[in-house]
Amino acid sequence: MKRILVTGGAGYIGSHTTLELLDAGYDVIVVDNLSRGHRKTVDPKRLREADLLDTEALTRIMKEEPVEAVIHFAAYIAVGESMKDPGLYFRNNVAGSISLMNAMQAAGVNKIVFSSTAAVYGMPAVIPIRETEPYAPINAYGETKVMIEKVLTWFDQCVGFRSVCLRYFNASGADPAARTGEDHEPETHLIPLLFQAVKTGKPATLFGRDYPTPDGTCIRDYIHVSDLARAHIGAVEWLLKGGESKRFNVGTGSGYSVKEVVEAVERVTGKPVPHTYGPRREGDPPLLVANSTALQNELNWTPRDSALERIVETAWRWYNR
Ligand code: UDP
Repeated sequence: MKRILVTGGAGYIGSHTTLELLDAGYDVIVVDNLSRGHRKTVDPKRLREADLLDTEALTRIMKEEPVEAVIHFAAYIAVGESMKDPGLYFRNNVAGSISLMNAMQAAGVNKIVFSSTAAVYGMPAVIPIRETEPYAPINAYGETKVMIEKVLTWFDQCVGFRSVCLRYFNASGADPAARTGEDHEPETHLIPLLFQAVKTGKPATLFGRDYPTPDGTCIRDYIHVSDLARAHIGAVEWLLKGGESKRFNVGTGSGYSVKEVVEAVERVTGKPVPHTYGPRREGDPPLLVANSTALQNELNWTPRDSALERIVETAWRWYNR
């Protein structure tokens, strides 16, 4: 049985990918320091509690339990926080990732799937966005991901690391069997915040209604977390087969406005979403939609659960678990 090390396996996308790996017949060990993830989402026998900055601990784990590849999720993800405390982001996301790569090298592991983001593109000129768009991050979070993509390129060239960087668009939804789901503290993401508004009656704030889009609200490409998880399985399999390093967008190619998401939440929950409009959120581009044909063609991936209703319905089931 092939063993994969998942960093950040106690988090949102990491916990879904761990389930998907187990379903696909892999053995999995999870490295997480539980600073943002949840202990209850990881089977205790799989959890190795360690900090990414502890290179020695990571090396020891991989020497004691040899792994074929690493899927690296562990990172901080809040754009707003990254602008208030960039040091935290560069330390955890950049220094932490480099520490992990050093440990992999010491343990003789040279295959890695890396969680990247649409934020590497900033405000792209061409929509849908292709992987060939230049790096142009507009926030510290996006810059941390650009930096690691570049470090991985050098590790490929210098020491034969093979990597797949998956640039996620808007991860959303939950495991259809409600085994795990989205649970950030504090929550900043649209769909769970709309559920909170439905439950509490306290209005959600929609950020901006004067964008150059048909209804004036931002358009995003929402990708179901189970489809994202399957993209990671495809990426690991690609690397295990000896594939070269790749960078892929992971999205559906369809965009929905914030207002359309509100309407979908109203349809699924059967209740009105109390909401008001606020100013634009700093650093929010009007329109982000992926071109994912490279991932579809090269890794034979297709989104299966990413219809907006399906995303909202699975997320709502998890929210009410
Ligand atoms: N959004 C909003 N109100 C909120 C949270 C988000 O209007 O309370 C909008 C946000 O401006 C963006 C979209 O919802 O256009 C998706 O934001 P989210 O934070 O879920 O994901 P991100 O795009 O930041 O990854």
